[in-house]
Amino acid sequence: STSARGWRDFLRDRLYIGGTWVPAEGGAVIEVTDPATGGSVGQVPDAGAVETELAVAAARAAFPAFAALTAAERAGMLHRLADLIDAHGPALAELLTREQGKPLAEARGEVGMSAAYIRWFAEEARRVYGDTIPSPWQGRRLMVTPEPVGVVGAITPWNFPSSMLARKIGPALAAGCTIVAKPASQAPLSALAWGVLCEEAGIPSGVVNIVTGDARAIGGVLTSHPDVAKITFTGSTEVGKTLLRQAADSVKRCSMELGGNAPFIVFDDADLDQAVAGAVASKFRNAGQTCVCSNRIYVQSGIHDRFVEAFSRAVEALRAGSGLEEGVTLGPLIDEKAVVGAEAFVADARAKGGRVVTGGARSKGLFFQPTVIADASAAMDFAHEEIFGPVAPVFRFETEEEALRVANDTRYGLACYFYTTDLGRAFRVSSALRYGLVGVNEGVITTEVAPFGGMKQSGLGREGSKYGIEDYLDQKYVCFGGL
Ligand code: ADP
Repeated sequence: STSARGWRDFLRDRLYIGGTWVPAEGGAVIEVTDPATGGSVGQVPDAGAVETELAVAAARAAFPAFAALTAAERAGMLHRLADLIDAHGPALAELLTREQGKPLAEARGEVGMSAAYIRWFAEEARRVYGDTIPSPWQGRRLMVTPEPVGVVGAITPWNFPSSMLARKIGPALAAGCTIVAKPASQAPLSALAWGVLCEEAGIPSGVVNIVTGDARAIGGVLTSHPDVAKITFTGSTEVGKTLLRQAADSVKRCSMELGGNAPFIVFDDADLDQAVAGAVASKFRNAGQTCVCSNRIYVQSGIHDRFVEAFSRAVEALRAGSGLEEGVTLGPLIDEKAVVGAEAFVADARAKGGRVVTGGARSKGLFFQPTVIADASAAMDFAHEEIFGPVAPVFRFETEEEALRVANDTRYGLACYFYTTDLGRAFRVSSALRYGLVGVNEGVITTEVAPFGGMKQSGLGREGSKYGIEDYLDQKYVCFGGL
């Protein structure tokens, strides 16, 4: 299993249910295309409620035996899974780039993160401790034992088609849960590749199930089925709210990683080169299509013009093209809707006095020029909405107080970033920002060892870190009396 394989070896056009590969009822399929070329990459089943019910039944059947394994046994399986991901990293990264578009270097980084999350949770599986509580009564002992919640329904987006599954499969399996995962239809092949990897890692049949197809039908079953204990979702805030509403009827545990509207604040005392490098990295990674991408760049007036100049030059140096080409740093957007969305943000900004410093239009196909818009204002759409594309608005501000007010003036609270060399300001500002992730003089801060998750309408729960397993556990209190 360690001999080098190519990306085609991980292509599957079947659902992975109960340890077997099955087509959708009636054989309907969805085409998966390469966003850089429009060419076909593969096909996946267009499944719905019937197949999802089979997957839930398989996960339910596998749960008791899997939960009864020792933590060390489950950890061993997760370690084997992580080793397989690493062994086949280049093939998995190529598959990812072909279906999703990101530059190969970023795809390699994502696949590496997948292995890192799985390895982290392999380690955490062995550290799920309970508690004994000092008794308020004579003759009783109070014990708290964490137990796996049960079957988990996971719904994941297309922007990180591999690592978003790692963040859910890792803690679920570490805790002793079984899982039914539904990836996004734009990039479902990396998810089916997880089925190949789980099979080879010796993860028992039914523990991990993967269903592709109709989001509403699959999501409808996952959020309502009495045998599903928990929903974990990464995607837009709007869909997250729908799933929360649907899950309310059966009081499912819910973890939600939703949208962001990240401010990136550059104070006068910032190191200009660091701020420019951080802004480019945090804005243009994955062509701007991440929930932690900078959405609003606020620059203090004393450094503003120098920043806009240096930032625009750095943005012009990005190289657009197919992610498979050497040296490419900016891939295509995921689909036509995404390009139309980027065009609309630019048109709205122009109409309201925004100055396009560089870029501003589609180049060809699904490629959008990396764009910097100066003189951005609060009236423009991107001041309130997530851009999810390579458009960087720069707003000017005067005081720290003003920067904090505008930065926090959003219903979102996922990631934020700021640059300063003043120690007092670093502490003041990081504590005043209402965000789950804060980068101080850093533009890319995600790691499996730290908690990832949002405040406000950006979500519920945390992924990764020692906190990431908590959402997959129920705490059982047992009182031993009459002692
Ligand atoms: P994005 O903007 O990143 O595409 P979405 O929230 O639309 O975010 O999609 C994230 C995931 O949610 C995808 O797997 C998508 O298929 C799924 N999804 C979209 N609508 C629904 C729905 N009504 N019920 C369940 N899942 C859905």
